[in-house]
Amino acid sequence: MAVIGFIGLGNMGGPMAANLVEAGHDVRGFDLSADSLDRFAEAGGKPVASAAEAASGADAVVTMLPAGKHVRSVYMDDGGLIASCKPGTLFMDCSTIDVPTAREVIAAAESAGHMMLDAPVSGGVAGAAAGTLTFMCGGSNKAFAAARPILEKMGRNIFHAGGPGNGQAAKVCNNMLLGISMIGTCEAFNLAEALGLDAQTFFDISSTASGQCWSLTSYCPVPGPVPTSPANLDYQPGFAAAMMIKDLSLAADAAKGANASTPMGKRALELYERFIEAGGADTDFSGIIRYLKTSN
Ligand code: NAD
Repeated sequence: MAVIGFIGLGNMGGPMAANLVEAGHDVRGFDLSADSLDRFAEAGGKPVASAAEAASGADAVVTMLPAGKHVRSVYMDDGGLIASCKPGTLFMDCSTIDVPTAREVIAAAESAGHMMLDAPVSGGVAGAAAGTLTFMCGGSNKAFAAARPILEKMGRNIFHAGGPGNGQAAKVCNNMLLGISMIGTCEAFNLAEALGLDAQTFFDISSTASGQCWSLTSYCPVPGPVPTSPANLDYQPGFAAAMMIKDLSLAADAAKGANASTPMGKRALELYERFIEAGGADTDFSGIIRYLKTSN
């Protein structure tokens, strides 16, 4: 079994690290938060006092951090992971960050003799706890082959999306599509109601017709048709609207940088921003249905 450093033991990283412990790996974890370190120790991990200590002598290092600036700092600052780890260390950054930062950090890691993947995830906190995450990986074939057995202990579907940064590219494209499809699904339910069409009846028809999509059939934004969806719990997250803003902003920045036209992605970002201004930040992203009912 491998010696693994794990940095960032929050809502996602905590349960992901616990699954590596459960699989028999020797996991040394670091987080700035004492509570996260305590929970990691309760799960059988070895808490340590710094990122460098977690990574020292490790075969592989996983990072699960809030944003690109944290990832750049943990890897590239003086005394950061790239400088302090033994050459040949395998790095997997599972955070959701911007594509240019992912590519820059991987290039720096590779030129120092390490292997590195960007490996963002889909599946949320429930998927992290159950070990059923989807990983979207960008990087060399060699890094992907080395990472796969470790990622399989935390996820069910492990995709190699291409070279460095392509995991983040897959993640932003997927989540832009999710934001757009959720708004479309919400609008359809609101229009159905206004036209006197029962929500369950509309669900039964559309879920087997051409309007079918994940936002409808797995995460239905009205209570009733899908009992596990946050709509049944007064829109408690789930996946908070604030996190959807993060992903739609990353998509908008990526589109601008690549000169790609994404008018619906931009509009989805504007609508989620307005939903948040109206107090929706901590609501599940499907809760935008209530905001859309009253906006024009
Ligand atoms: P979180 O805020 O719960 O966890 C992040 C952790 O990183 C915190 O515990 C924080 O203390 C720690 N941290 C920050 N800077 C650090 C540093 N320099 N050294 C060590 N630890 C540091 O966030 P999360 O929900 O676990 O999300 C982590 C990443 O996963 C984000 O990029 C997010 O976009 C992505 N993501 C989250 C979800 C979700 O449903 N929560 C789903 C998919 C992807």
